[in-house]
Amino acid sequence: MPEPFQVAIVGGGISGLACAHRLRGLGVPAVVLESEGRGGGVIGTVERNGFLFEAGPQSFLGTAPVLELIRELKLEGELVQADPNAPRFVFVKGRLQAVPRSPTALLTSSLLSVRSRYRVLSEPLRRTAPVQHEETVADFVRRKFGNEILEYLVAPFVSGVYAGDPETLSLRAAFPSLDEWEREYGSVLRGAINSRKKQGGARPGLCSFRGGMRALLQALESELGDGFVTGARAEALERGGSSGFTLRFMKDGRQESISVRAVVLAAPAYTAGHLLSGVSQTAGDALLGVSYAPVAVIATGYKRQQVGNALVGFGVLIPRKAGLHTLGTVWNSSLFAGRAPKNSVTLTSFAGGVTDAEIVSREESEIGALVESELENLLSISGPPVAREIWRYPRALPQYNLGHAHVLENVRGALAGVPGIHLTGNYLSGPAIGNCVEQSARTAEAVCAFLRGAGGSAAGAARAN
Ligand SMILES: Cc1cc2nc3c(=O)[nH]c(=O)nc-3n(C[C@H](O)[C@H](O)[C@H](O)COP(=O)(O)OP(=O)(O)OC[C@H]3O[C@@H](n4cnc5c(N)ncnc54)[C@H](O)[C@@H]3O)c2cc1C
Repeated sequence: MPEPFQVAIVGGGISGLACAHRLRGLGVPAVVLESEGRGGGVIGTVERNGFLFEAGPQSFLGTAPVLELIRELKLEGELVQADPNAPRFVFVKGRLQAVPRSPTALLTSSLLSVRSRYRVLSEPLRRTAPVQHEETVADFVRRKFGNEILEYLVAPFVSGVYAGDPETLSLRAAFPSLDEWEREYGSVLRGAINSRKKQGGARPGLCSFRGGMRALLQALESELGDGFVTGARAEALERGGSSGFTLRFMKDGRQESISVRAVVLAAPAYTAGHLLSGVSQTAGDALLGVSYAPVAVIATGYKRQQVGNALVGFGVLIPRKAGLHTLGTVWNSSLFAGRAPKNSVTLTSFAGGVTDAEIVSREESEIGALVESELENLLSISGPPVAREIWRYPRALPQYNLGHAHVLENVRGALAGVPGIHLTGNYLSGPAIGNCVEQSARTAEAVCAFLRGAGGSAAGAARAN
């Protein structure tokens, strides 16, 4: 290692890199060990024949913590924002229908039956209390709004965020705001309106960077310098060594080790669980129980004249009832400039998820052919794409299923006995990039408190993260 580091971070995805950034700001240099040849984890941008394709996330919500990170990295000039009024579509009853964005639009929309529209609009008047047991997202939505809203709106949205199944996702773990709003106001819509008022009325918009999502990673990586080590696969974690913990890793075919006072595990739950077993079998076993959804990303470039649909909007989500493999398609070139050459468009589709896991194990060419034939009907496309790239992730997104909060409580409880070990990542407080950035900042502060030897409060901070 080029210089002695007090802290080692395992995993150079957005969580690990954002944590290192925050630690640096707090005056604590950390080394990030990343097993792959590049950082970013599921985030990655590639160029193919003039098309800009995103391997994972296509954009992020411009929430305050992410915008603060962007300011600190001096990346504001690179930021691009999507039109906040761009419509989103769902494929219902054989056609693309705009998701209503206001009560008036809902009243006149033919997407939902009169009964469902009435249930949504009258929901603020029908106060309810949360049920006593942990409820699934599906049960909650059926109880409050009925089955049609679940099938046409909520389930496709759940596919878009978690690639998950609303019948198994825990409302409290996956969408804590909805649970809180019912608890506080007896109504989801009242809660949403009040929360918007508290935020000053503005809703964070969808953002990316001129050169794609990789800009964020490149900025984070370059500030770390030799504190960012690629091709270093962490294999074991033990107590002891000169500082407190010894982390063993493989680099260039050789086993190496580093001795540090604190370790942040910023790798997926299944890797963190494996590493934790060296310091706490209970915590390790609990994390190994977090399940993941597989996802295939199919990025395609077409000539504009090949696509009949005007592509005015964010994209389309597809309810499972439609019987298609495609979960949804983002219209990248309608959202941000510079995604496709002149007179061309970029579309990114997703397939798989918990409800269609098998497709992700098929050959890339087969997945591409299946999704492209579905796109042809959906968006009136003629002919094959002029550029295409496919990524398959067998374990793409953690599932906040029933019992998830309990698993995390067990892990935190067990780790309270191992001060100096901290967790961050997308299985803790939400999978979105904004959630990862916020979680990583909290983790960095807990590491700092621990290093400063803040006694009881450091242990408390470690438990909370
Ligand atoms: C297909 C897809 C689309 C998405 N779309 C969006 C979106 O549009 N907007 C949004 O906000 N979010 C989106 N997300 C979610 C978001 O991108 C992820 O939750 C987030 O990027 C995860 O970051 P992470 O750092 O926690 O984990 P990861 O990105 O998984 O990073 C973990 C890192 O740890 C490394 N690692 C693993 N094992 C070891 C080891 N033993 N030693 C060292 N390193 C190791 C990995 O190589 C990896 O780099 C999407 C996710 C996916 C998969």
